[in-house]
Amino acid sequence: MGTAVTTTIEIRVASLLQTLTDFFKGPSGPKCPECGSNISGDLCPNLDCPIKVAQWISHWCSPEAVDIPALDQVRVRQLARHRLVLHPGELYELRQGDWDQLEGVSAGQLTEIQGQMQSSKSTEPSALLFGLRLPGVDTNLAKQLIGMFGSIDKLRETKPEQLQQAGELSEQQALEIRRWFRDSVNRQALQMLEQNGFRFSS
Ligand SMILES: [Zn+2]
Repeated sequence: MGTAVTTTIEIRVASLLQTLTDFFKGPSGPKCPECGSNISGDLCPNLDCPIKVAQWISHWCSPEAVDIPALDQVRVRQLARHRLVLHPGELYELRQGDWDQLEGVSAGQLTEIQGQMQSSKSTEPSALLFGLRLPGVDTNLAKQLIGMFGSIDKLRETKPEQLQQAGELSEQQALEIRRWFRDSVNRQALQMLEQNGFRFSS
């Protein structure tokens, strides 16, 4: 085999390898510091990204939602990083072995966290709804929606047109709320919360 032929083959192999590498690496550009996904705009597109999970859990634990101050941002971040939770429902399914993976949490602190988690089960419906973080639902809208529909279960069954008629919601907002309730992760979260003693019906 002549040198020219070998060189051509080498170039082809190198170019094929480059194509494969590019394919597996995806387009070059900014990557999420937490999960390594390629970022489009400012947002990480990965729904399971630990940053997003931690944001939801921190929101859930905030005083305006179910109020679990002992589960602070550092601990929430650890739970998300260790992939111990994907949504608030999974918080209530954590076992001792899972909690043991958190660094720097004493037995006393764990008792405090678990006590607050227990109390969180009697959170009033509008605060619960706020904690679920539906698109565009702030504390005021959560109160308004519960005032109108009575319970999260009723809200879940309400058609977008009815939602729009009842509240000061745009068509887009009403559709996004409907979509939230249909999402499989959100449905799993609600189911798990109910199994752990939360009440969504009045
Ligand atoms: Zn990410």
